[in-house]
Amino acid sequence: KLGLLGMAMITGVVLVACSEGSSGGEGGEETTVGISMPTQSSERWIADGDNMVSYFEDLGYKAELQYAEDVVENQISQIENMITVGVDALVIAAVDGEALTSVLESANAEGIPVISYDRLIMNSEHVDYYATFDNFEVGVLQGQYIIDQLDLENEEGPFNIELFAGSPDDNNAHFFFNGAMSVLQPYLDEGKLVVGSGQTDFNQISILRWDGATAQSRMDNLLSSNYGGGEELDAVLAPADLLSIGVLASLKSVGYTAEDMPIITGQDADVPSVNAIVAGEQAMTVFKDTRVLAEKAVEMTESVLNDEEPEVNDTETYDNNVKVVPSFLETPVVVDVDNYEELLIDSGYYTEDQLN
Ligand code: BGC
Repeated sequence: KLGLLGMAMITGVVLVACSEGSSGGEGGEETTVGISMPTQSSERWIADGDNMVSYFEDLGYKAELQYAEDVVENQISQIENMITVGVDALVIAAVDGEALTSVLESANAEGIPVISYDRLIMNSEHVDYYATFDNFEVGVLQGQYIIDQLDLENEEGPFNIELFAGSPDDNNAHFFFNGAMSVLQPYLDEGKLVVGSGQTDFNQISILRWDGATAQSRMDNLLSSNYGGGEELDAVLAPADLLSIGVLASLKSVGYTAEDMPIITGQDADVPSVNAIVAGEQAMTVFKDTRVLAEKAVEMTESVLNDEEPEVNDTETYDNNVKVVPSFLETPVVVDVDNYEELLIDSGYYTEDQLN
């Protein structure tokens, strides 16, 4: 019944609708993604932000990147501004995972999808997807490294260890700690490992906002209260390089050197920590390639913008108290003095000049 004109009109309408609405493959220029990152205090977040901007731009999107410098209110107002200027999607790594409930209500009211980046945003139904690394596994790798280096399969010990955890308002911190303890606890129970200070509760050992100076002063106190009489400290579980560097500074200040340094763990392969690994001071770090995570988050965002379902590989683990957020978990790897060249330099993550 439709005449040719009618057909053409319908086709025309459809074509117009397509070219206005399409954003993805063709890279609609008006499509803007707001990227809200927590801080520039650790290089990893700078790399995450830069990588996402460049991947989004490669696909023809505009990207608006902001850092909150670990101030919750900054992050909220930066996201509010992004909503006001009309971004089409948000990718957020929260400073405080529990502080974004109401700003995500506003995003949802404007129909803006939200991808939670690296850290899970809690207490909101408006978190569409989550791109991260296997955070429990990060802790397992740290704990297992300590066990292997102390050769606790064969040695009786007892060896002294102190424990640190990350920021209590970061869901990841709990996963890292639980992962590490899943490996360490049997040895603590057996008495092969002993926490000299007795401080083993998350609340006693967590460091707000992952602040290295706070970690350093906690380590100072642990050393003076528990290791002042010549007792040896054999290992320190530090969940991230920001804290490892504080712990290391404290140990150095009371005379520890590369020769007798406890086994100190870390995460992120930040340059100061890689240098400390090369110098024999920090034992390891868990490398989470920010190029891979950024690419995954960009891919997820693009799918959502195109009304497609992003690929996920975990739909059980990450419950934000309101819903289980469909997630893609990337794989973390151990970096130490034996493989840092291959994993960090040969892979192009750092140039040789950036180290040392
Ligand atoms: C990230 C870690 C990082 C830490 C401190 C965590 O949420 O997963 O990679 O070390 O925050 O910035």
